[in-house]
Amino acid sequence: MNWPHSVTPEALLKKAREAQQAAYVPYSRFPVGAALLTAEGTVILGCNVENASYGLSICAERNALTTAVALGERHFVAIAVVGRHGEPCLPCGACRQFMAEFNAAFFVVLEEGTESLLYRLDLDLLPHPFVLEGAFPLEA
Ligand SMILES: [Zn+2]
Repeated sequence: MNWPHSVTPEALLKKAREAQQAAYVPYSRFPVGAALLTAEGTVILGCNVENASYGLSICAERNALTTAVALGERHFVAIAVVGRHGEPCLPCGACRQFMAEFNAAFFVVLEEGTESLLYRLDLDLLPHPFVLEGAFPLEA
C-alpha cells in the first residue's frame, strides 16, 4: 500500500498514544487515542470522551475530526487509532462514515504487536458509504 505522506505511520501511532492519555473514560475504562494527519502535515489529536448518558459519548476519531474542522482543516489523508497496547483498535461504523465525508480513501493506521497495520477506508473498512443523493457540500 502506498503511504501518501512524509509523516510515517509509526510517528502517527506515537501521536495517537499521546492523545490517549487525555481520554475521559470513567465508564468503559477503555481509553482510545487518535492522531489525524492533514495533507499539509499537521497532526490533530483526539481522545474518546464518555458521558453518564452513554449515547452522548464521542469516539477519539470523531473528536479529532471535529477538532480539525473547527481549526479550519478539511483535507485529511490518514488517521492512527490506538486502544490496548499491541491490539488493532478498529474504528466503529459511525467513525468510518464520518471519515468518508472528507476522504473516501482515508488511510487508517492501527497497531498490531509492535508493527503498524494499514487499512484503506474505501477498500477495507467502508466500501459503500452513505451518500446523500443530490446534496453537494457548499465547499469541498
Ligand atoms: Zn467511533
